[in-house]
Amino acid sequence: MAIKVAVTGFGGRMGRALAEALKLAQQSGKAQLSAAIVRPGSSLVGADAGEVAGTGRNGLAIVDSLEQADFDVLIDFTAPQVSIDNAAYCAANGKGIVIGTTGFDPEQKVQMLSAADKTPLCFASNFSTGVNLCFNLLETAARVLGDEVDIEIVEAHHRHKVDAPSGTALSMGEVVAETLGRDLQKVAVYGREGQTGARERETIGFATVRGGDVVGEHTVSFFADGERVEITHKASSRLAFANGAVRAAAWLNGRAAGHYDMRDVLALK
Ligand code: NAD
Repeated sequence: MAIKVAVTGFGGRMGRALAEALKLAQQSGKAQLSAAIVRPGSSLVGADAGEVAGTGRNGLAIVDSLEQADFDVLIDFTAPQVSIDNAAYCAANGKGIVIGTTGFDPEQKVQMLSAADKTPLCFASNFSTGVNLCFNLLETAARVLGDEVDIEIVEAHHRHKVDAPSGTALSMGEVVAETLGRDLQKVAVYGREGQTGARERETIGFATVRGGDVVGEHTVSFFADGERVEITHKASSRLAFANGAVRAAAWLNGRAAGHYDMRDVLALK
């Protein structure tokens, strides 16, 4: 039977992409949109979810609280404090949760992940298959090129993005740092200006570009003397993230409580 998936942040960019992904999943009988949730007091409350998302009328009235929603798994691409509260709600009510929100500070991340003690929770800074494949390629590159290279990460996103560097860029930095036995908190350099001094080998540099409607681009460069390896991912549609999140929701349903990520879903570990 198709699992019932609720989407919160339904009025947002990812909310609409998730509506499209769930329509495709419904056609194959894997999952279906069972509730659409928006921020409390939104003018969208009561409107037809399919009409708002542009996927065709579906008779599902938009609501503004989880208490009014019927679902097996919640998909949440909203904001850090909202996701923390939603994860606690799912843990208390025996529901699975897929979280794509980024921009958690370290304390918020611990708080959000604590729900995984009681319920299955899948958190990923990027739900696209390509980026998760890139994580494995980055591990290989870091292992082979090791301490002989300078590593720099450049990311670009649309003008509306509110956090920087992107959660995906940070995850890429974590994969590389972990493979090389470095602590990202200690070696990360977030932008450079003025008299910075020469580059130290163990640092991992981040640079951020914002503008237009760029969905998401990431390049990790490994600079050696005489050659350079670049691993690049370019997303051209939010459906890449939405399809991954829906796949994660179907995979999560019925699992034991625990903290999973997209590499678990794709069996890339
Ligand atoms: P957006 O601003 O378009 O959408 C967020 C939506 O959440 C808004 O419509 C807002 O009204 C809604 N919201 C706020 N509080 C709420 C509440 N209490 N209940 C219900 N809805 C509420 O942003 P977006 O581009 O859709 O991105 C959302 C988040 O997802 C960001 O953190 C972004 O970085 C992240 N993101 C992650 C991935 C990934 O693959 N993990 C991909 C894209 C975006």
